[in-house]
Amino acid sequence: MRLLIYSKALYSSWVYYSPDRILFDAGEGASTILGNKAFAIRRVFLSHGHADHIAGLVGLVNIRNNALGDTEKELEIYYPKGNYLVSEMMAFLARTNRRLNYDLTWIPLEVGDRVELLSGQMPRYIEAFPTVHVHNETSLGYNVVEMRHRLKPELAGATQQEIVARVRSEGKDAVSEDYAQKLFSYGGDSVGIKPTHVSETEILCHDTTFLDERDRKEYKHATLAEAMQCARDAGVKKELICLHISSRYKSKLREIEKASGDYDGLNFKVTLVPPGRIFTVE
Ligand SMILES: [Zn+2]
Ligand SMILES: [Zn+2]
Repeated sequence: MRLLIYSKALYSSWVYYSPDRILFDAGEGASTILGNKAFAIRRVFLSHGHADHIAGLVGLVNIRNNALGDTEKELEIYYPKGNYLVSEMMAFLARTNRRLNYDLTWIPLEVGDRVELLSGQMPRYIEAFPTVHVHNETSLGYNVVEMRHRLKPELAGATQQEIVARVRSEGKDAVSEDYAQKLFSYGGDSVGIKPTHVSETEILCHDTTFLDERDRKEYKHATLAEAMQCARDAGVKKELICLHISSRYKSKLREIEKASGDYDGLNFKVTLVPPGRIFTVE
């Protein structure tokens, strides 16, 4: 399991990204459904402060203090700097959890800020990007990025011997270059995300509150068409995951499930997460 997701607009949204033990948003019920995995979480990244994205922090912070898991493990919660609803939640949790057995740290982030996940040969980090949701609240999306090496494009036609000879005479840097590969992008609640923010990501999670443009009364959330357009323009490599689908479509769950799959002309798979279901992505 790479992703464990629950997402129903207005009720609760969260995504557990298991490769880096990250919870993106923490809607109500996150710790209830995650069970033991709630102890595995190292970091939480909040996209914004609406209740359907942060109400689950109350349970999460508490359960890690009380239950039989590893209560020493620290937890870092990252959030958009200056977000007043998150600040209220932070104050509430501080007042109601005066004696935590583990370190709980709140870290404000701004657009472009990076959080290192692991260092080593292939460093990996989270980078915050801007989203557009509601005017009175700051909101962020997040990319999981991995630094990789590749052969310089101008050497694409070169033979093995030529490359080896070049390395011998000029060193490794003459033939290879570093590049940043986005592995996963989480947009939270947003109107259509600017494709450059999530360019060439492998997996994109995009707001898809409205399957039909005519159902949208206010410009705060995206439609399925906008999510697909963003993924196409961004050159998503593997999968578009459509989140935050409105519960007005709950009578169409079967159609929503059937709509997932490969589409003609798209290089990535489209997955619609049915509202109200616990959903896994392998
Ligand atoms: Zn929401
Ligand atoms: Zn929201």
